[in-house]
Amino acid sequence: MDKTADPCEDFFQYACGEWNRIHIIPEDKSSYNTFEKLHDELQVKLKGLLEESSPKPYDTESTLKAKVLYQSCIDTNIIEVVGDKPVHAILKDMGGWPVLDPSWSTDQDWQFEKLLGKLRKVYNAPILLESWVAPDDKNSSVYIVQLDQPTLGMPSREYYLKDMDLEYKQAYFKYMTQIATLLGAESDEAARQMQLVLDFEIALANITTPQIERHDTGAMYQKLSLRELRNKVPQFDWMTYFKTYLPVNVTEDEEVVSMAMEYIHKLGNLIVATDKKTLTNYCLWRLLLGLSPEMTEKFQKQRGEYLRVLQGVSRDKVRWQKCIEYVNERMGMAVGKLFIKDYFRKESKDTALEMIHNLREAFNEILMESDWMDDETKAVAMEKANAMNERIGYPEFILNATELDKIYAGLQFNSSAYFENVLKVEAHGAYQNLKQLRETVKKDQWHQDPAVVNAFYNPNMNDIVFPAGILQPLFYSAEFPKSLNYGGIGVVIGHEITHGFDDKGRQYNKEGNLRQWWNNETIERFREQAQCTIDQYSKYTLEPFGYSINGRNTQGENIADNGGLKESYRAYQKWVKRNGEEQPLPGIDLNHNQLFFLNYAQIWCGIMRDEEALHKIRTSVHSPGPIRVLGPLSNSHEFAEVYQCRSGSRMNPVHKCSLW
Ligand SMILES: [Zn+2]
Repeated sequence: MDKTADPCEDFFQYACGEWNRIHIIPEDKSSYNTFEKLHDELQVKLKGLLEESSPKPYDTESTLKAKVLYQSCIDTNIIEVVGDKPVHAILKDMGGWPVLDPSWSTDQDWQFEKLLGKLRKVYNAPILLESWVAPDDKNSSVYIVQLDQPTLGMPSREYYLKDMDLEYKQAYFKYMTQIATLLGAESDEAARQMQLVLDFEIALANITTPQIERHDTGAMYQKLSLRELRNKVPQFDWMTYFKTYLPVNVTEDEEVVSMAMEYIHKLGNLIVATDKKTLTNYCLWRLLLGLSPEMTEKFQKQRGEYLRVLQGVSRDKVRWQKCIEYVNERMGMAVGKLFIKDYFRKESKDTALEMIHNLREAFNEILMESDWMDDETKAVAMEKANAMNERIGYPEFILNATELDKIYAGLQFNSSAYFENVLKVEAHGAYQNLKQLRETVKKDQWHQDPAVVNAFYNPNMNDIVFPAGILQPLFYSAEFPKSLNYGGIGVVIGHEITHGFDDKGRQYNKEGNLRQWWNNETIERFREQAQCTIDQYSKYTLEPFGYSINGRNTQGENIADNGGLKESYRAYQKWVKRNGEEQPLPGIDLNHNQLFFLNYAQIWCGIMRDEEALHKIRTSVHSPGPIRVLGPLSNSHEFAEVYQCRSGSRMNPVHKCSLW
């Protein structure tokens, strides 16, 4: 806290001034905040678990595999001895990287679609087209192939298209040429060919649709057969592409869902206009870029230089941290099984369930009181809120060794072949996703990793998920007074419930199907209310950097933040009514209502570098921490009341926005 700050003028400074003063951003990070601190603490716990030698009674095949994967990652001596051989082997497997080979040419069998399909299937690298198997947004009980515009090598399209980003582009270009040179390219030739690759990627960035125009899921969604796709975009051989990577047979009648038809049209033309050599150079560059964090030391050095410019970091992460992160991301359920054994108490699940019920009750009341929604829609909305599935801690199946081991059955690791292990993980990850195509969706199952500090709402499952990693202080503790738990995990629960009714979530019904279940008039009123939030946030700037918030890109999260805070405060008041006032905390001159808001704000304590601020503003759907405090609190009448902020002060503006 910073008690010298006026809570009615700058509550972020009041709540976080001290935290921000005593913490520094570590050299290997571009920001540091309470989430990252919790994440770091979690890493230490996972390190202890994965470094346990010799099999323990609770180990299963999967947890042992996770330990071998970790060992292979941590042993940099062996990684150096193995060297670049496996990297050259995959380039050879892909027909060669033209920049390394002056005699590179294509034979009669060569087809660009096969190259892309193989990258998707074997290396889990969806380049030029994002493609995956997931439940159909309009029929959530059936799996379907989905297509979307891809990610780029740098974090977003702006990095390629804005003049002010010359520095980033230069660093990226340097990184490309260095990787090529390290792998044996002649340096002039590397610079010449990589310039063509960068020019191609700039053209690619240009044909992607800006995020700001991608909010209406219903308008983006298009279901079509492969035959129709071929008729619309004949420049691309769709059948060959899908047949190369899908593990099941498909015909021209197979239906797919496209979320980016305009992009796909333009992509067809761009591919035709680009020579084969540049296309191949680009695709394999992107494959190498993705794998480069796992390559040998000399590559890490160049990567470090690139990240210094891109993120402002001055050194690489410590090896064990990288390895823990890697194993937890790729084998999350196995790691989660070890984690919950020591760090998750059954009581937390019961308390979380009880809180969810109170939050839902509060949401339903607010819903009934809203003056912009018609009664009929209200009734259906309440049904949707009541139908939300609650997922807490970890999915039950990970307690069953047979079930858990099934997920990783195809994986066999070698403790002295890290890079090969990485390739196995990628191929396995691709297969696990794609094989679902002919399976039925198991609605009672969920697959969010347990050991993460985050929470989720899945629109087409209509479920809210609170992994074990978030059910800990600051968010939650059995020892905390309820005011802190409601200001912490309570707001997070409310936030996730509200996602079911934000600009995106509202388009899905209670079964998780994209379907219009609101009448046009109510939709119009929703848009008016949402516009208030968009305008409000668009006026905010992130200080001291001076970047403006993109109110449109962040609207869903802002709606969820505002709703979550309001619902949780109400739920806490109801709890007090039922159970009586809580005892004041000794030595603290704040009452529990004030503590509720203080804990909410302190979740967002944190500091960041300029590079990270820009990155967040451009790519994140979330507002940055200080804005997540400023926005919701200045819309809250209750906050103004408990901190006695005069009307017109910065934290209690006269004009307020409210949706839920
Ligand atoms: Zn959210």
